[in-house]
Amino acid sequence: MVLLFLCPGVNPVGWSRELAALMPELELRIWPEVGDVTQIDAALVWQPPPGELQRLPGLRLIQCLGMGVDGLLADSTLPPVPVARMFDPGIVTQMAEYVCEAVLYHHRRLADYAALQRERRWQRLPWQDTVRRRVGILGLGEIGAHTARQVQRFGFAVAGWSRSPKVLEYVAGFYGDDTLPAFLQRTDILVCLLPLTPTTRDILGARELALLPAGACVINCARGEHLVEADLLAALDSGHLAGATLDVFRQEPLPPDHPFWTHPKIRVTPHVAGLTHPRTAAPLVVENLRRLQAGEPLLHRVDRVRGY
Ligand code: NAP
Repeated sequence: MVLLFLCPGVNPVGWSRELAALMPELELRIWPEVGDVTQIDAALVWQPPPGELQRLPGLRLIQCLGMGVDGLLADSTLPPVPVARMFDPGIVTQMAEYVCEAVLYHHRRLADYAALQRERRWQRLPWQDTVRRRVGILGLGEIGAHTARQVQRFGFAVAGWSRSPKVLEYVAGFYGDDTLPAFLQRTDILVCLLPLTPTTRDILGARELALLPAGACVINCARGEHLVEADLLAALDSGHLAGATLDVFRQEPLPPDHPFWTHPKIRVTPHVAGLTHPRTAAPLVVENLRRLQAGEPLLHRVDRVRGY
Protein backbone atom coordinates (compact mmCIF):
# COMPACT_ATOMS: atom_id res chain seq x y z
CA MET A 1 0.00 0.00 0.00
CA VAL A 2 1.43 3.37 -1.05
CA LEU A 3 0.03 6.57 0.48
CA LEU A 4 0.85 10.03 -0.83
CA PHE A 5 0.90 12.81 1.77
CA LEU A 6 -0.31 15.77 -0.30
CA CYS A 7 -0.76 18.55 2.22
CA PRO A 8 1.30 21.61 1.24
CA GLY A 9 2.23 23.60 4.33
CA VAL A 10 1.45 20.77 6.79
CA ASN A 11 4.44 19.33 8.65
CA PRO A 12 4.64 15.61 7.71
CA VAL A 13 6.93 14.54 10.58
CA GLY A 14 4.21 13.69 13.11
CA TRP A 15 2.18 11.94 10.42
CA SER A 16 5.14 9.81 9.34
CA ARG A 17 5.73 8.76 12.93
CA GLU A 18 2.10 7.95 13.78
CA LEU A 19 1.36 6.15 10.51
CA ALA A 20 4.55 4.09 10.74
CA ALA A 21 3.68 3.04 14.29
CA LEU A 22 0.17 1.93 13.30
CA MET A 23 0.95 0.44 9.88
CA PRO A 24 4.66 -0.43 9.53
CA GLU A 25 4.19 -1.95 6.08
CA LEU A 26 2.78 1.33 4.64
CA GLU A 27 4.98 3.19 2.16
CA LEU A 28 4.48 6.92 2.72
CA ARG A 29 5.55 9.39 0.06
CA ILE A 30 5.65 13.08 0.81
CA TRP A 31 4.56 15.38 -2.02
CA PRO A 32 6.16 16.71 -4.19
CA GLU A 33 8.46 13.62 -4.10
CA VAL A 34 5.81 11.34 -5.65
CA GLY A 35 8.05 8.75 -7.36
CA ASP A 36 6.29 6.35 -9.73
CA VAL A 37 2.75 7.77 -9.82
CA THR A 38 1.24 4.46 -10.97
CA GLN A 39 2.10 2.89 -7.58
CA ILE A 40 0.09 5.30 -5.44
CA ASP A 41 -3.10 3.76 -3.99
CA ALA A 42 -4.34 6.55 -1.75
CA ALA A 43 -3.73 10.21 -1.00
CA LEU A 44 -4.01 12.02 2.32
CA VAL A 45 -4.82 15.56 1.27
CA TRP A 46 -5.29 19.09 2.51
CA GLN A 47 -5.69 21.88 -0.03
CA PRO A 48 -3.99 19.91 -2.82
CA PRO A 49 -2.93 22.05 -5.79
CA PRO A 50 -5.62 21.67 -8.49
CA GLY A 51 -4.78 18.94 -10.99
CA GLU A 52 -2.29 17.07 -8.73
CA LEU A 53 -4.67 14.18 -7.93
CA GLN A 54 -5.41 13.71 -11.63
CA ARG A 55 -1.80 12.69 -12.12
CA LEU A 56 -2.33 9.49 -10.07
CA PRO A 57 -3.83 6.83 -12.38
CA GLY A 58 -4.06 4.11 -9.69
CA LEU A 59 -5.68 6.30 -7.01
CA ARG A 60 -8.48 4.49 -5.13
CA LEU A 61 -9.01 6.71 -2.09
CA ILE A 62 -8.82 10.44 -1.38
CA GLN A 63 -8.64 10.81 2.40
CA CYS A 64 -9.16 14.40 3.51
CA LEU A 65 -7.04 15.60 6.44
CA GLY A 66 -9.82 17.86 7.70
CA MET A 67 -13.39 17.20 8.84
CA GLY A 68 -14.77 19.73 6.33
CA VAL A 69 -14.49 18.82 2.64
CA ASP A 70 -15.99 21.95 1.04
CA GLY A 71 -12.62 23.16 -0.28
CA LEU A 72 -11.77 19.75 -1.72
CA LEU A 73 -15.14 19.26 -3.44
CA ALA A 74 -14.92 22.76 -4.95
CA ASP A 75 -11.91 21.59 -6.99
CA SER A 76 -13.26 20.89 -10.48
CA THR A 77 -10.21 18.73 -11.24
CA LEU A 78 -11.00 16.24 -8.45
CA PRO A 79 -10.94 12.74 -10.00
CA PRO A 80 -14.00 10.46 -9.59
CA VAL A 81 -12.44 8.50 -6.73
CA PRO A 82 -14.10 7.83 -3.33
CA VAL A 83 -13.52 10.67 -0.87
CA ALA A 84 -13.46 10.12 2.89
CA ARG A 85 -13.33 12.94 5.37
CA MET A 86 -11.44 13.00 8.63
CA PHE A 87 -12.98 11.85 11.85
CA ASP A 88 -10.65 12.98 14.61
CA PRO A 89 -11.98 12.59 18.16
CA GLY A 90 -9.42 15.22 19.18
CA ILE A 91 -11.06 17.80 16.91
CA VAL A 92 -14.49 16.94 18.28
CA THR A 93 -13.22 17.60 21.82
CA GLN A 94 -11.50 20.83 20.81
CA MET A 95 -14.59 22.15 19.04
CA ALA A 96 -16.75 21.48 22.08
CA GLU A 97 -14.20 23.26 24.28
CA TYR A 98 -14.21 26.27 21.97
CA VAL A 99 -18.00 26.48 21.87
CA CYS A 100 -18.45 25.98 25.63
CA GLU A 101 -16.00 28.80 26.34
CA ALA A 102 -17.75 31.09 23.86
CA VAL A 103 -21.22 30.27 25.18
CA LEU A 104 -20.09 31.00 28.75
CA TYR A 105 -18.28 34.16 27.62
CA HIS A 106 -21.46 35.58 26.12
CA HIS A 107 -23.76 34.19 28.80
CA ARG A 108 -21.66 35.70 31.63
CA ARG A 109 -21.20 39.03 29.76
CA LEU A 110 -17.43 38.83 30.06
CA ALA A 111 -16.91 41.39 27.27
CA ASP A 112 -18.96 43.91 29.26
CA TYR A 113 -16.99 43.17 32.45
CA ALA A 114 -13.70 43.58 30.55
CA ALA A 115 -14.89 47.01 29.40
CA LEU A 116 -15.85 47.94 32.97
CA GLN A 117 -12.45 46.80 34.21
CA ARG A 118 -10.72 49.07 31.69
CA GLU A 119 -12.69 51.96 33.25
CA ARG A 120 -11.96 50.73 36.83
CA ARG A 121 -15.70 50.50 37.44
CA TRP A 122 -17.08 48.09 40.04
CA GLN A 123 -20.54 47.39 38.67
CA ARG A 124 -22.77 44.30 38.66
CA LEU A 125 -24.71 43.75 35.45
CA PRO A 126 -28.14 42.06 35.19
CA TRP A 127 -27.85 38.30 35.43
CA GLN A 128 -29.74 35.64 33.48
CA ASP A 129 -30.54 32.19 34.84
CA THR A 130 -28.63 29.50 32.90
CA VAL A 131 -31.67 27.25 32.48
CA ARG A 132 -33.48 30.10 30.74
CA ARG A 133 -30.62 30.83 28.32
CA ARG A 134 -31.43 29.01 25.08
CA VAL A 135 -28.51 27.76 23.02
CA GLY A 136 -29.20 26.64 19.44
CA ILE A 137 -26.76 24.50 17.48
CA LEU A 138 -26.96 24.43 13.69
CA GLY A 139 -25.74 20.97 12.66
CA LEU A 140 -26.02 17.91 14.89
CA GLY A 141 -23.31 15.80 13.30
CA GLU A 142 -20.14 14.45 14.87
CA ILE A 143 -19.17 17.84 16.27
CA GLY A 144 -22.63 19.34 16.83
CA ALA A 145 -24.06 16.39 18.78
CA HIS A 146 -21.06 16.18 21.14
CA THR A 147 -20.94 19.95 21.58
CA ALA A 148 -24.67 20.05 22.36
CA ARG A 149 -24.09 17.47 25.08
CA GLN A 150 -21.24 19.41 26.65
CA VAL A 151 -23.15 22.72 26.57
CA GLN A 152 -26.22 21.07 28.05
CA ARG A 153 -24.12 19.81 30.99
CA PHE A 154 -23.80 23.42 32.17
CA GLY A 155 -27.59 23.58 32.39
CA PHE A 156 -28.41 25.55 29.24
CA ALA A 157 -31.59 24.80 27.31
CA VAL A 158 -30.13 23.32 24.12
CA ALA A 159 -31.79 22.78 20.73
CA GLY A 160 -30.25 21.52 17.53
CA TRP A 161 -31.09 21.76 13.85
CA SER A 162 -30.26 19.11 11.27
CA ARG A 163 -31.40 17.88 7.87
CA SER A 164 -32.83 14.57 9.13
CA PRO A 165 -34.59 13.84 12.46
CA LYS A 166 -32.38 13.12 15.47
CA VAL A 167 -33.31 11.61 18.80
CA LEU A 168 -30.94 12.95 21.46
CA GLU A 169 -32.39 13.13 24.95
CA TYR A 170 -30.39 16.26 25.85
CA VAL A 171 -31.36 18.34 22.78
CA ALA A 172 -34.66 19.66 21.48
CA GLY A 173 -34.56 18.51 17.86
CA PHE A 174 -35.53 20.64 14.86
CA TYR A 175 -35.01 19.35 11.35
CA GLY A 176 -35.59 20.52 7.81
CA ASP A 177 -35.78 23.99 6.26
CA ASP A 178 -39.35 24.62 7.47
CA THR A 179 -38.29 24.54 11.11
CA LEU A 180 -35.37 26.97 10.80
CA PRO A 181 -37.43 30.11 11.65
CA ALA A 182 -38.87 28.55 14.83
CA PHE A 183 -35.41 27.29 15.79
CA LEU A 184 -33.90 30.76 15.39
CA GLN A 185 -36.75 32.46 17.26
CA ARG A 186 -36.06 30.33 20.35
CA THR A 187 -32.26 30.79 20.28
CA ASP A 188 -30.38 33.30 22.46
CA ILE A 189 -26.90 31.96 21.64
CA LEU A 190 -26.57 30.58 18.12
CA VAL A 191 -23.73 28.20 17.25
CA CYS A 192 -22.98 27.27 13.63
CA LEU A 193 -21.52 23.77 13.17
CA LEU A 194 -22.84 23.01 9.70
CA PRO A 195 -20.81 21.72 6.76
CA LEU A 196 -20.48 24.22 3.93
CA THR A 197 -22.63 23.03 1.02
CA PRO A 198 -24.64 24.78 -1.70
CA THR A 199 -27.67 24.74 0.64
CA THR A 200 -25.90 26.07 3.73
CA ARG A 201 -23.83 28.82 2.07
CA ASP A 202 -25.05 32.26 3.29
CA ILE A 203 -27.50 30.55 5.64
CA LEU A 204 -26.98 33.29 8.23
CA GLY A 205 -28.05 36.49 6.52
CA ALA A 206 -30.15 39.52 7.49
CA ARG A 207 -33.44 37.60 7.51
CA GLU A 208 -32.19 34.80 9.73
CA LEU A 209 -30.30 37.11 12.12
CA ALA A 210 -33.47 39.22 12.48
CA LEU A 211 -35.34 36.12 13.66
CA LEU A 212 -33.03 35.73 16.65
CA PRO A 213 -34.36 37.37 19.83
CA ALA A 214 -33.03 40.85 20.64
CA GLY A 215 -29.74 40.58 22.53
CA ALA A 216 -28.79 37.24 20.95
CA CYS A 217 -25.17 36.25 20.21
CA VAL A 218 -23.64 34.32 17.31
CA ILE A 219 -20.76 31.84 17.41
CA ASN A 220 -19.44 30.64 14.04
CA CYS A 221 -16.76 27.99 13.99
CA ALA A 222 -17.89 26.09 10.88
CA ARG A 223 -17.03 28.05 7.71
CA GLY A 224 -16.94 31.78 6.95
CA GLU A 225 -19.25 31.43 3.96
CA HIS A 226 -22.16 30.43 6.22
CA LEU A 227 -22.36 33.99 7.48
CA VAL A 228 -23.13 37.13 5.47
CA GLU A 229 -20.55 39.36 7.14
CA ALA A 230 -22.14 42.71 6.27
CA ASP A 231 -25.47 41.49 7.68
CA LEU A 232 -23.81 40.48 10.95
CA LEU A 233 -22.18 43.90 11.25
CA ALA A 234 -25.53 45.61 10.59
CA ALA A 235 -27.30 43.46 13.21
CA LEU A 236 -24.59 44.22 15.80
CA ASP A 237 -24.47 47.93 15.02
CA SER A 238 -28.25 48.30 15.19
CA GLY A 239 -28.13 46.80 18.70
CA HIS A 240 -30.25 43.80 17.71
CA LEU A 241 -27.38 41.37 18.39
CA ALA A 242 -25.19 41.65 21.48
CA GLY A 243 -22.03 39.94 20.30
CA ALA A 244 -20.27 37.39 18.13
CA THR A 245 -17.36 34.97 18.44
CA LEU A 246 -15.92 34.07 15.04
CA ASP A 247 -13.26 31.50 14.21
CA VAL A 248 -13.82 31.31 10.45
CA PHE A 249 -14.09 33.95 7.74
CA ARG A 250 -14.91 34.35 4.08
CA GLN A 251 -11.31 35.40 3.49
CA GLU A 252 -8.58 33.73 5.55
CA PRO A 253 -6.29 35.07 6.84
CA LEU A 254 -8.69 37.88 7.79
CA PRO A 255 -7.34 41.00 6.00
CA PRO A 256 -5.74 43.57 8.34
CA ASP A 257 -8.29 46.25 7.39
CA HIS A 258 -11.33 44.02 8.00
CA PRO A 259 -13.83 45.66 10.39
CA PHE A 260 -14.15 42.48 12.48
CA TRP A 261 -10.66 43.00 13.96
CA THR A 262 -11.63 46.12 15.87
CA HIS A 263 -15.38 45.75 16.34
CA PRO A 264 -16.16 46.05 20.08
CA LYS A 265 -18.77 43.28 19.96
CA ILE A 266 -16.75 40.75 17.96
CA ARG A 267 -14.11 38.29 19.11
CA VAL A 268 -11.83 36.87 16.40
CA THR A 269 -9.72 33.71 16.49
CA PRO A 270 -7.64 32.55 13.48
CA HIS A 271 -9.44 29.30 12.51
CA VAL A 272 -8.14 27.34 15.48
CA ALA A 273 -11.34 25.94 17.03
CA GLY A 274 -10.41 22.39 16.03
CA LEU A 275 -7.08 21.35 14.54
CA THR A 276 -6.24 17.91 13.16
CA HIS A 277 -3.52 16.23 15.18
CA PRO A 278 -1.69 13.15 13.85
CA ARG A 279 -1.93 11.33 17.20
CA THR A 280 -5.74 11.42 17.25
CA ALA A 281 -6.33 11.45 13.48
CA ALA A 282 -3.94 8.76 12.19
CA PRO A 283 -6.08 5.80 13.42
CA LEU A 284 -8.91 6.75 11.04
CA VAL A 285 -6.50 7.04 8.11
CA VAL A 286 -5.04 3.62 8.86
CA GLU A 287 -8.47 2.06 9.31
CA ASN A 288 -9.58 3.38 5.92
CA LEU A 289 -6.39 2.10 4.26
CA ARG A 290 -7.02 -1.29 5.83
CA ARG A 291 -10.61 -1.24 4.56
CA LEU A 292 -9.42 -0.21 1.10
CA GLN A 293 -7.05 -3.17 1.07
CA ALA A 294 -9.78 -5.57 2.25
CA GLY A 295 -12.43 -4.18 -0.11
CA GLU A 296 -14.62 -3.13 2.83
CA PRO A 297 -16.79 0.04 2.99
CA LEU A 298 -14.83 3.16 3.92
CA LEU A 299 -15.53 5.07 7.12
CA HIS A 300 -16.80 8.65 6.83
CA ARG A 301 -17.18 8.45 3.08
CA VAL A 302 -18.40 11.74 1.64
CA ASP A 303 -21.55 11.96 -0.45
CA ARG A 304 -20.20 14.14 -3.23
CA VAL A 305 -23.68 15.20 -4.41
CA ARG A 306 -24.89 16.16 -0.92
CA GLY A 307 -21.57 17.91 -0.26
CA TYR A 308 -20.70 16.41 3.14
P1 NAP B 1 -21.16 16.19 10.04
O1 NAP B 1 -20.91 15.07 11.00
O2 NAP B 1 -21.19 15.91 8.59
O3 NAP B 1 -22.56 16.85 10.49
C1 NAP B 1 -23.17 17.86 9.76
C2 NAP B 1 -24.50 18.21 10.39
O4 NAP B 1 -25.08 19.29 9.65
C3 NAP B 1 -25.48 17.04 10.33
O5 NAP B 1 -26.26 17.00 11.50
C4 NAP B 1 -26.36 17.42 9.12
O6 NAP B 1 -27.67 16.92 9.17
C5 NAP B 1 -26.39 18.93 9.25
N1 NAP B 1 -26.74 19.54 7.96
C6 NAP B 1 -26.05 19.50 6.80
N2 NAP B 1 -26.71 20.16 5.83
C7 NAP B 1 -27.85 20.62 6.40
C8 NAP B 1 -28.96 21.36 5.93
N3 NAP B 1 -29.04 21.77 4.65
N4 NAP B 1 -29.94 21.65 6.79
C9 NAP B 1 -29.89 21.23 8.08
N5 NAP B 1 -28.87 20.52 8.60
C10 NAP B 1 -27.86 20.23 7.76
O7 NAP B 1 -20.11 17.37 10.25
P2 NAP B 1 -19.15 17.63 11.50
O8 NAP B 1 -18.07 16.64 11.55
O9 NAP B 1 -20.00 17.81 12.71
O10 NAP B 1 -18.47 19.03 11.08
C11 NAP B 1 -19.22 20.20 10.81
C12 NAP B 1 -18.33 21.25 10.17
O11 NAP B 1 -17.48 21.85 11.14
C13 NAP B 1 -17.36 20.73 9.12
O12 NAP B 1 -17.99 20.55 7.86
C14 NAP B 1 -16.32 21.84 9.07
O13 NAP B 1 -16.61 22.76 8.05
C15 NAP B 1 -16.44 22.51 10.42
N6 NAP B 1 -15.18 22.42 11.18
C16 NAP B 1 -14.56 23.55 11.57
C17 NAP B 1 -13.38 23.49 12.30
C18 NAP B 1 -12.68 24.72 12.82
O14 NAP B 1 -11.54 24.65 13.26
N7 NAP B 1 -13.29 25.88 12.82
C19 NAP B 1 -12.83 22.23 12.62
C20 NAP B 1 -13.49 21.09 12.20
C21 NAP B 1 -14.68 21.18 11.48
P3 NAP B 1 -27.96 15.32 9.08
O15 NAP B 1 -27.44 14.77 10.40
O16 NAP B 1 -29.41 15.24 8.99
O17 NAP B 1 -27.17 14.81 7.90
